Amino acid sequence: MNLFELTKSLMSIPSVSGEEEAVGFYLRDYLESLGWTVELQKVAENQSNVIAYLNDTPRVWLSTHMDTVPPFIPPTEDDEKIYGRGACDAKGIIAAQITAAEELRRAGVEDIGLLYTVEEERASTGAKVANDHPIAAKCKYLINGEPTDNDLAIGSKGAFRAKIKTKGKSAHSAYPEQGDSAIEKLLDILEDVRHTKFPNDDFFGETTCNIATLDGGIALNVIPPNAETGLLIKKNLRSRWACTLIW
Ligand SMILES: [Zn+2]
Repeated sequence: MNLFELTKSLMSIPSVSGEEEAVGFYLRDYLESLGWTVELQKVAENQSNVIAYLNDTPRVWLSTHMDTVPPFIPPTEDDEKIYGRGACDAKGIIAAQITAAEELRRAGVEDIGLLYTVEEERASTGAKVANDHPIAAKCKYLINGEPTDNDLAIGSKGAFRAKIKTKGKSAHSAYPEQGDSAIEKLLDILEDVRHTKFPNDDFFGETTCNIATLDGGIALNVIPPNAETGLLIKKNLRSRWACTLIW
C-alpha cells in the first residue's frame, strides 16, 4: 500500500484515546502481511501497544502513537492535502515510518523496530508500559514522530498536570463567621502559583503555567464549601524523547 493509501486507511479507523484496539489490530495484520514479527503489548483493558521487528536485535526504533484527540473526523482530500483527525498527529507519521522502514529493508537494513503506543494524548501510559518490555533493552536509538513543523527536535518539555481542590464550610452569606470559604482559600493558592518563579532552560526556554480551569461555589448567598482548579505546567525537564519515552 502506498504512503497516502495507508495514511487514509489508518485515519478511517476511529482511535480516540481509550479506543485504539481496532487500529492496533489493523496495524498488526498489515505488518504481519509484510513479514514483520508483531506483538500486542497489553497496557489496559482493550488497549495494547503495537511492537514490530524483523530480527532479534532491533537497534533503531521508529515510534509514535495510535490514539487521537476527540472527536473522530474521517479523512478527506484535495489535490494537495489529506485532511482529518490524525492526518499529521500521528497516523500520517505511522504511514511514513512504515514506508521508510520498508525502504530500509529493501536496502538490506533489518535491525529496525516499530513501536506504536496507546493513550499518548492523555497520560502516556502506553509509552510508560513500553519501557517495561524486554526488547527495550536492545534499543540504541528511538526516533519519535510528532508534528514539529518538519524540524528535527531533540527533546521535549515535560508536562505536570495538577488538580487542586479546597474544602471549606457552607453558611448563609449573611453569617460569614459561621462559614469557611473554599474559594478564598483557592484564590490564595493561585496567587502563590502566579508569583512562583519557575526555572528556565537555555534550550527549552521558559516554564509555562496555565491556570486552565476554575470551578466552585453553589449560589450567591452561600459561603462556598468547595472549589477546584486545574493547572498545566510545562516544565523544562530534559527528556530524551517526546511522549515520555525513555527506551
Ligand atoms: Zn502526537
